[in-house]
Amino acid sequence: MADDQRARPQPTPETKHFWDGTRAGELRLQKCDACAKVYFPPRPFCPACSSREVSVMAASGKATLHSYVIHHRKVPGFTPPYAIAVVELAEGPRMMSNIVDCPQTPEALELDMRLEVVFDKMDDEITLPLFRPAKD
Ligand SMILES: [Zn+2]
Repeated sequence: MADDQRARPQPTPETKHFWDGTRAGELRLQKCDACAKVYFPPRPFCPACSSREVSVMAASGKATLHSYVIHHRKVPGFTPPYAIAVVELAEGPRMMSNIVDCPQTPEALELDMRLEVVFDKMDDEITLPLFRPAKD
């Protein structure tokens, strides 16, 4: 890995559907067939009722900004300052990501602002889901 590249996720059997999805331009979550809980991160059983009857579903890609910190130190692959955000997906689960196409300032990053997913291809296997202010 080049020193100037961000840390690269390593897909596992449990997360393969997620990385296959981002590569195809889809944000994939899992939904429990027993209790209908939608959840993230990926795991082979429902975090609410422990059922192993779970399905993969495509999320809308819509989200709101739940929380963030602005990081000021140099980290490989990032130009400070940049926001490390927790976004809340329209389907309910929260996800850590970065906010792009937006100044990385408290003035621009308003809590609860509407966001939409964008897909940032790292290489042939990994495409990262990032979020930007919603356009509509
Ligand atoms: Zn369940």
